[in-house]
Amino acid sequence: MTDGEARVQAAVDGLGYDFRQFTVPHFVKHLEALRTRDIILHGVAFDQGLHGFWVQAETADYVFFNRRTHEVHQAHHILHELGHMMLRHQLRDLAAFLPPELMAHLRASISAAPQGHCRRWDPHDTPEEREAELFVRRLQREILLAGRLAALTHPDTSIGALDRFTRGLGYDG
Ligand SMILES: [Zn+2]
Repeated sequence: MTDGEARVQAAVDGLGYDFRQFTVPHFVKHLEALRTRDIILHGVAFDQGLHGFWVQAETADYVFFNRRTHEVHQAHHILHELGHMMLRHQLRDLAAFLPPELMAHLRASISAAPQGHCRRWDPHDTPEEREAELFVRRLQREILLAGRLAALTHPDTSIGALDRFTRGLGYDG
């Protein structure tokens, strides 16, 4: 097992999560309790090139995902960003990855200097990206073993429940 694989396995083991209860919102609630920080998920109709990104703001973490992609992919992108979060990956300046108008909105609404991680259709191949993907694969395995695969392969109702997290955020770019 490589260092990266060991780090990912330790992060998944450290969740202490009962995967028999898995839905995306339930899993997010668990992480919120673990970290004693809000995680706010927000589906936005991005251009196809942008899958999602995570912004670590002062009072909460925001995970934006592209609601134009299939629900299965939405769930994957959300779990990928949660992977960066739980693996405590070094934050990046999102201005290097996101279009200026989106950055302007984030600066006005969430954080003066938005930092986090971003996932595009052309993923940059770095150890952190590989670890976040491995985190998703480890979760998928646990979810499969717990008999909750339907919550990943037909997550539409589960992700639909996220509306209550996203209402009031005001951004629908
Ligand atoms: Zn990533």
